[in-house]
Amino acid sequence: MNTFFKTIVPQTTALGSTPFLRNFLLLLFFSLLMGLSALAGSKHVLLISSYNSGFPTFFQQVEGIKSVLDDKNVVLDIECMDSKRFFTAESNRLFKELLQYKLANTRTYDAIITTDDNALNFVLDNQASLFAGIPVVFCGVNDIAVALNQNSNPLVTGVVEAVSLKETVKIMVNLFPDTKTVYAIVDGTSSGQGDLKTYYKVAETMPNVEFKEIALHKTTYNSYKQQLQAIPEETPVLLLSAYFDSTGQVVDFGQCMQLLNENLKAPLFHLWEHGLGDGVLGGKIISHYEQGKFAATILQGMWLGEKIEEIAVNSTSPNRLMFDYEQLVRFGITERTLPNKSIIINKPVSFITKYKAFLGWFLAIIVVLTAFILVLSYNFFKQQRIKRILVQQNKDFEALNKKHLKQNEQLSAAQIQLEENEKRFWHLFENNPVSLWEEDFTELISCVKQVPCAYEDLPKYLDDNPGFVQKCAEAVTITEINKATLKLFGAKNKNDLKNNLSVTFNKKSLETFKKLLVALANNKLRFIQETEYVSLSGERIFAILYVFTFEKLSKSIVAIVDTTIIKQTQEELSNKLSELQQSEQELKSINEQLVAAKDQAEESDRLKSAFLANMSHEIRTPMNGIMGFAELLSEPQLETELQQSYISIIQKSGERMLATINDIIDISKIHAGQVKVNFEQIDIVEELQTVYEFFKPEATSKNIDFRMQQHIPEAYNLVYTDKTKLDSVFNNLLKNAIKYTDKGQINLQATVNNENYTFVVKDTGIGIPENRLEAIFERFVQADIADVNAKEGAGLGLAITQSYVKMLGGKIRVTSTEGEGSEFTVDIPFKRPSQNTKNHKFTAVGNGEQMKNAKFTILISDDDHVSIELLKVFLKDYSKKIIVTTNGPDAIKMAKNNNDIDLILMDIKMPEMNGFEATQQIRAFNNSVKIIAQTAFARPEDSRKAMAAGCNAFIAKPILKEELLAQISKLFSLS
Ligand code: ADP
Repeated sequence: MNTFFKTIVPQTTALGSTPFLRNFLLLLFFSLLMGLSALAGSKHVLLISSYNSGFPTFFQQVEGIKSVLDDKNVVLDIECMDSKRFFTAESNRLFKELLQYKLANTRTYDAIITTDDNALNFVLDNQASLFAGIPVVFCGVNDIAVALNQNSNPLVTGVVEAVSLKETVKIMVNLFPDTKTVYAIVDGTSSGQGDLKTYYKVAETMPNVEFKEIALHKTTYNSYKQQLQAIPEETPVLLLSAYFDSTGQVVDFGQCMQLLNENLKAPLFHLWEHGLGDGVLGGKIISHYEQGKFAATILQGMWLGEKIEEIAVNSTSPNRLMFDYEQLVRFGITERTLPNKSIIINKPVSFITKYKAFLGWFLAIIVVLTAFILVLSYNFFKQQRIKRILVQQNKDFEALNKKHLKQNEQLSAAQIQLEENEKRFWHLFENNPVSLWEEDFTELISCVKQVPCAYEDLPKYLDDNPGFVQKCAEAVTITEINKATLKLFGAKNKNDLKNNLSVTFNKKSLETFKKLLVALANNKLRFIQETEYVSLSGERIFAILYVFTFEKLSKSIVAIVDTTIIKQTQEELSNKLSELQQSEQELKSINEQLVAAKDQAEESDRLKSAFLANMSHEIRTPMNGIMGFAELLSEPQLETELQQSYISIIQKSGERMLATINDIIDISKIHAGQVKVNFEQIDIVEELQTVYEFFKPEATSKNIDFRMQQHIPEAYNLVYTDKTKLDSVFNNLLKNAIKYTDKGQINLQATVNNENYTFVVKDTGIGIPENRLEAIFERFVQADIADVNAKEGAGLGLAITQSYVKMLGGKIRVTSTEGEGSEFTVDIPFKRPSQNTKNHKFTAVGNGEQMKNAKFTILISDDDHVSIELLKVFLKDYSKKIIVTTNGPDAIKMAKNNNDIDLILMDIKMPEMNGFEATQQIRAFNNSVKIIAQTAFARPEDSRKAMAAGCNAFIAKPILKEELLAQISKLFSLS
C-alpha cells in the first residue's frame, strides 16, 4: 500500500467511529478539494519519472506533487523511463520515440516535472526538440553540478537531492552513545559507491567511532545474511544501497528490506524515506514526497505569476529528520533524545494533531455535532427518560396485566363459583322444606307506584279499592315455586297452584298482601309478616311470610314458613301451661298445708314428748294408789271400815287409770281414722237423765250445785245418733266442769229446734284464759306445761269430744272468763229415726231379780288365769257350772261335749286358735249357745269381726262386773 493510502485510510478508520460521522467528513473533504480546483483552472502537466511505478520513491514523489496540485484542475500525465531496469541507448531511443509520438498527438503540456537525474538529463538532452517553450521543474537530482547549471537555463529550475549522511551518522552515534562502531551496507551501484565515499569522509571527522561496511556486491546473499546477523544489537547500521550481490542477483527494495528485517537485529538507518515504517529506524532522510511537493509548489508559484527564469535552483535538499515510532520503542529511544523537528511516523497521534488542518472545520463540525449531539443527547435522554417511563409503565402495565390476569382468574373462579352457587341455590330452592316462590315484582312495583295518593294514605286507599288490590295481585308474575310449596298448598303442579291462587287467600292473607304493597311502595326490600293461607283442599294454613326483593332486578324470593303445627302446639302448650299453673297453685297450697302440717307435727311431737312424761305421771299416780292401798289391805286385822275405804281408793285409782287408757285408745283411733260412727236410735231425755244422775253424786261431794234443765219436747226424745260418742261428749264436759269448779254451780241445759239439739255445760269454775280457748281442743294440751290450769287428766278429753261432735255432724264452742267460769255449747243435728228402724235399745239390767235367779252353765275360754279368776268371781252367783279352757280347740271340744252350755265367754287372743275361728267352728254345730267375745282388743272392727264370726255380744277388757251382767241379762232377756 502506498503512503497516500497509508495516510488516508487510518484517518478514515480513526474518524469513522460512526458510519454517519465518517461519511460526513469524506463528503466535506472532497467538497473542499472541488472548491479549490475550481479556483485554479485546468492545467496539463507531464511528469517524467526516471524510474517506474514499482520503485519505492515513485509514489512518494507523485503524492508530494499531488499534495499541491489538485486532481480536478490539473491533469497529470506520467511517463516512466524505467532507467533502473533499462538504461541503454536503445531503451532511451524507444522512450524518446514513444514520447515524441505522444507529444505530437496530444495537447501541449503547461509544464514538465522530472524526478531524479536521468529524467532531467533526458529532458535537457531533448529540450529543444520535444519540450521547447515548456517550463521544466526538476526534483530528486543528485548531480548538483547539472542542477545548478540550470540557473542559466531560463525554462528549467528545480531542487537538488543530496543525502544528509553526516547528520545521519551523527544521529546514529548520538542515539546509541555506547556504541563504538557503525556499519554501512552498500552495493556496487554508483550512487551507493558515491555515498560510501561520503561515509568514509564523515569517519574522518569522528575518530572515536569505527566505521565499517558490508559490501553486498562483494559477497553472496547468504554471506550477506550471516554478516548482518553478526552485527550486535546496539550497533547502528546505515543502509546506503543493497540491490545486487557479487553474483549480480538483483533484489528490489522490498526484498532488500525483507532480508534486513529477517537477519538484522541492530537499528537500521536510511538516508531515504522509503524503508521508513518497514524496518528502518530513521535518519535525516531525503523525502521524495517533499521533493515532489517542492517541484509542484514552484509550478503553482509560476501559475500564480512568478516567472520561471527568476526562480533559482534550490541547492538544499529538503531532507527531513524522520523516525519510526515502533523502532524507537523497540530500541528504547525516547522522543526527548531525538533532534529537534524530528518527525515520528506511526506514532499514535491525538486527533487534533493528526487533523490540525481540518481543526477549524472540525471545530465547526464539532459545534454542529455538539449541537447535534446535544439535541441527540437531549432526545436521547428524553428517550431514555421516556424509555425509563415506558419501562416503568411497562412494568406497571405488566404488574397491572398480572393483576388483571389474576383478577381474571379470580373472576373466572368467581364465575365458576357463581354457577356452582346458582346450581346450589336452585337445588336448595327446589328441595327446601320451606315453601319458596321466585316472583317477578316489576309490574307489581310499577302498579304500586301508580297509586294516585300519598304514601300515608295508601292503606286506606287499598281498603277502599279492592279492585286495585286485585289488579296488583294479578301483576305478580310467579317464575318458580318449589316442591314444598306444592305440598303445602296441596297443588298437583305449578299451573294448578297458579290457576287457583285466589283460593289460597283468606281475609288475613289479603290484609298481608296489602301490607306488602305498602312496604313495596315505601321501597322496603324485606317484608316479614305472620299470616294465614288456605290450601287448595280448604285447610287453614298458619304461616310466616318472608319476602326478599332484589332492588334492581325487581325479583323476589318469597318464603312461606308453615307454622300450623307450631300454632297448634302453641295452643296445646298454652293449655298445658294453664294446667301447670293450676297444678302449681295446688302444689303451692299443698305445700302450705304440708308446712302447716309440719309445724303441727312438730308441735305435736313436742306435745307428745310432754304427753309421754305426763302419761307416766297419770299411770304411776293411780298405780301408786292401787299398789299402796292393796298392800295396806293385806294387813291382818284391818278394820272393815278402813278396808272399804282402801278398796274404794283402789277402785277410783283403777277407774282413773282406765279412763286415761280409754282416752289414749280413743284419741289413737281418732287419729288413725279408725273410729266409725254407729248410728242407732236412742232416747235423748233418758240419756241426759242417766248422765245427770251419774255425775250428781260427784258434784255433790264437791259441794257443787249441779242442775239440769232439759227442754226437749217428747217428739224429739228419740234421735238417730251414736250413743257411745254422745255419752263420751257429756262425760268429758261434765267431768271437766266438776274438775275445774271448786264452788258454785254446774248447769246442764238441753234444747232442740228442727235442726239441732243444743247442749250447754256451764260452770262457775276457774275459767280458761282467752289465748287458750282454741288450744284446749288440741290433743295432749293438758300435758303442755303452759297449761297452768291443768289438773289431773291426760289432756285428751276435749280433743276426743270435739272429734266425736264432728263425727256426729255437730259443732262445739266455748266461751269463758277467767275466774268466773266456762260455758261449753254442743250442737248435734237432729236426725229423726226412720219408722222401721228397729229399736236396739238395751233393756236395762233392771233390778237384777231375774238374773239373780238365773243359773247358767258357762264355758270360759281364756289363756289369762287372772281374767279367768275374775270372771269366775263375777259369775259365781249366776252359774251352776263353770267350765274353763285355755285355747280355741279345747273350747270347741268342750262345746261339743257339753250340750248344756248356755254361755261361752270367748277370749279372742288365744294360743293355737283364736276366738274368732273357735266361735265359727262352734257355730257350725251349735247355733243357740250365747257367745260373748271378751277381749283386750277394743277396736270397733274387733267387735264387728267377733259379731261376724258368730258372737252375740262383745265386751272389752277390763271387764266391769255390771257391764258383764248387763250384757248377759240382755242376751237372755232377763229383767
Ligand atoms: P283433761 O282430761 O286433762 O281435763 P281436757 O282435754 O278435758 O283434758 O281439757 C283440757 C284443758 O281444758 C284442761 O286441762 C283445762 O285446763 C281446761 N278446761 C277444760 N274444761 C274446763 C272447765 N270447765 N273449766 C276450766 N278449765 C277447763
